[in-house]
Amino acid sequence: TRRLVIVLGDQLDLEAAAFDGFDPAVDTVWMAEVAEESTHVWSGQPRIAVFLAAMRHFAIALQDAGRALVYTRLDAPGNVGSLAAQLAQDLARIRPSELVMTAPGDWRVLQAIQAVAAEAGLPLDVREDRHFFTSVRDFAAHARGRKALRMEHFYREQRRRFQVLMQDDEPAGGQWNYDADNRAAFGPDGPGFLPPRSTFEPDAVTREVLDLVARRFADHPGRLDSFAWPVTRDQALLALQAFITDRLPLFGRYQDALWPGDPWLYHSHLSAALNLKLLNPREVVAAAEAAWRAGHVPLASAEGFIRQILGWREYVRGIYWTRMPGYADANALDAQEDLPAWFWTGATDLACLRDALTQTLAHGYAHHIQRLMVTGLYALMLGVQPRQVHAWYLAVYVDAVEWVELPNTLGMSQYADGGLMGSKPYVATGRYLERMGPHCQGCRYDPAQRSGERACPYTTLYWDFLMRHEARLAAHPRMALQVKNLARLDDADRQAVRVRADAIRRGEVGALHG
Ligand code: FAD
Repeated sequence: TRRLVIVLGDQLDLEAAAFDGFDPAVDTVWMAEVAEESTHVWSGQPRIAVFLAAMRHFAIALQDAGRALVYTRLDAPGNVGSLAAQLAQDLARIRPSELVMTAPGDWRVLQAIQAVAAEAGLPLDVREDRHFFTSVRDFAAHARGRKALRMEHFYREQRRRFQVLMQDDEPAGGQWNYDADNRAAFGPDGPGFLPPRSTFEPDAVTREVLDLVARRFADHPGRLDSFAWPVTRDQALLALQAFITDRLPLFGRYQDALWPGDPWLYHSHLSAALNLKLLNPREVVAAAEAAWRAGHVPLASAEGFIRQILGWREYVRGIYWTRMPGYADANALDAQEDLPAWFWTGATDLACLRDALTQTLAHGYAHHIQRLMVTGLYALMLGVQPRQVHAWYLAVYVDAVEWVELPNTLGMSQYADGGLMGSKPYVATGRYLERMGPHCQGCRYDPAQRSGERACPYTTLYWDFLMRHEARLAAHPRMALQVKNLARLDDADRQAVRVRADAIRRGEVGALHG
């Protein structure tokens, strides 16, 4: 073998840069399923299954394309369990003269593979990941010399540079951002008819993976009985098409809404397909823009959706790669609590949180507002160690890969980077959740009360959070107003909040018993 092309589980793109110049006569592709990728965080079963099923289908696509492949299955005799060790062992046998790969998404994986290549004395050609609109270098150039980073600035640059939703030099419709139109909740009657989510019946390859995961990772969180994710490029394209036609028209309007028992709503559910590289963000953005130009969807919906992909997704990748490895250790608010154990089981008596956790474990999915304003908000205000929060998010979602998960968790959700990602901590009382959906009606807690037996833990923890960080937040221009409201609490009120918050931290409130 001349070149050995390393393909990771989230690099499932036949057009990736690593394949440029691939010569089937002398080059070989290398892939491996290794347990370490499922155990370095205690990965949920849906997540493990999505990765393995998509990898095995990609192996078939490689073979169909006539590319020689060395593929080690998780249950193969002699599988040594980690990417680095498996690669080192296989190199001794395959004896390539060069290693090639597309830049990996994870810092940890890049280090590990570089070390193996150095140890083997082989050149390693790491190629730009052109899946993304922007390179890390582009992002670094954008960030250089700026006092603060703001997604909105980056996003406008992206719109101009790639001519997305532009009319001449102006943003389509005259406005860059229609976020203000995207905050509706469903009325009291609920969402009514919802277009069904695209589901994909597991084929023989996927069923074999589901059996393997159920056996090998039986004690890992999550369930497999409703597994229906797209695991091939063709399936991902069908899911994209269905989203554009059925859900995108109302995506914008209900982007932030919550509804009990339904995590799918008008979201795209395309994150896993994108992150595994089954879909290219350019084709996704182009499809949304074309639907608007054809008059099928309102501008606010197309813009709101495109902003997530052309803006946020690229922005968080830039943050990750320009801030690692130190970023993973950030803990600006010095949060030291443990994550409640029921995050791994869903056994809590807070209705909104139970719903988000149950859906997460059943499908490996929850939508953005559930992640940010239900699970994330609770951990932030409780004061959970960011590392533990990070490990949970990386474990449970089918779309979880570190370059996108870490900045969202540590930065946007937990404010652990001190305001690099999000301009302020997103904190709110139970009243916010009450506005976004009807969970509170079936809940034992009252979002209007901040202390006492019936107080909603979100409301208690909100006031407790402001009190604990009063000095720091009072100096924050966008938090000062919220902190000022603390003046409405007299000493007795403050004491009552503290007592209740302590009970929540000791685990006396929140766990579902019996
Ligand atoms: P849609 O609502 O349909 O959005 C469309 C697409 O935009 C998504 O598929 C995704 O590719 C992109 N997108 C949307 N929001 C973001 C964002 N904040 N950052 C980057 N891309 C975004 N997303 C992941 O892909 N992997 C993760 O591990 C992940 N972890 C998260 C952890 C926390 C604490 C939070 C608050 C958010 C996280 N997100 C993550 C971002 C976002 O919640 C998911 O991308 C989204 O919920 C996926 O569902 P969807 O495909 O239906 O998204």
